[in-house]
Amino acid sequence: MDNTVRLLAECRVCKSAAVGFLCDTWNEHSATSPLSHYRCRDCGSVFVGNDVRGEELGLAYATLDSSGYYKEIESENSKKMARSIRDLKTFLHADSTVLDIGTGNGLFVELLHQEGFTDISAHEIPGGDLSKITRIANKIYEDFDYTSIASNSFDAVTLLDVVEHVPDPSYLLSMCNRILKSGGMIYFHTPVVTRIDRLMHVLQKLPVISKIGIMWQRARTSIFHLQNYTPQSLQLLLQNAGFGEIQIEVRNELSWPMALYVRIYLLQKNGLPGWLAPLFVPILRPLLATDTFNANKAIVRAIKQS
Ligand SMILES: [Zn+2]
Repeated sequence: MDNTVRLLAECRVCKSAAVGFLCDTWNEHSATSPLSHYRCRDCGSVFVGNDVRGEELGLAYATLDSSGYYKEIESENSKKMARSIRDLKTFLHADSTVLDIGTGNGLFVELLHQEGFTDISAHEIPGGDLSKITRIANKIYEDFDYTSIASNSFDAVTLLDVVEHVPDPSYLLSMCNRILKSGGMIYFHTPVVTRIDRLMHVLQKLPVISKIGIMWQRARTSIFHLQNYTPQSLQLLLQNAGFGEIQIEVRNELSWPMALYVRIYLLQKNGLPGWLAPLFVPILRPLLATDTFNANKAIVRAIKQS
């Protein structure tokens, strides 16, 4: 196996060469380890600088227990999806054509169906279990490069926590633009760099306490979350992909229940005992669950320009 560490010479998001090294973290999900994390001095995005691509990512995802994962994130996921449906109903009609990219186990498609949307399709990479939406979805697309989806086909494309997972976000957004009808809407949720992240980037450079910053980074960017954006970088990506009327709201939105996130991501994955979680949760809640310190999610809407 080739374990040579291949690094990108540029920002994964905006392609700028002005990138600064943050830290290395180990990776137990694929052959590339350590992962090297960088921050772009131009667009502010934080990203994994290793050149990891499709096949390796597919193998890494196969190491996860996906049914257990969906169960664990269920409660926070439901809040996020309810919010997304409220947003979509502001702009769409019941018969609008909607494509959910990175649909996972198809939960969002099910909810859209329950909420009265009648023409919903889904996209996922091959190998997932989409059995629960085969009778609901108009079409199910399964490929790695979106080429199975016809151009100018949809009124809206949704991506809930997807854009941070892909090795080439510019390509993904340009594909979204291609498959939308003129005037169609892209709607997505994705993580952004927060005040706590910036504080942790400073800690990573300090003696003794650098480990705290590195532990934090390991939970923020990884083989799965290849980049965290900034509003500036999202604006740039969307404009370059042919979108306008861009609206970006940045707010606190947790993907995991607090107690689980602290136990699994901040403690156990860093080799610390999970039973410490009840001690840390009350201390960390004001930091992790507020807009002031941890406005961690961008909720984005933009329109395909004709
Ligand atoms: Zn950049």
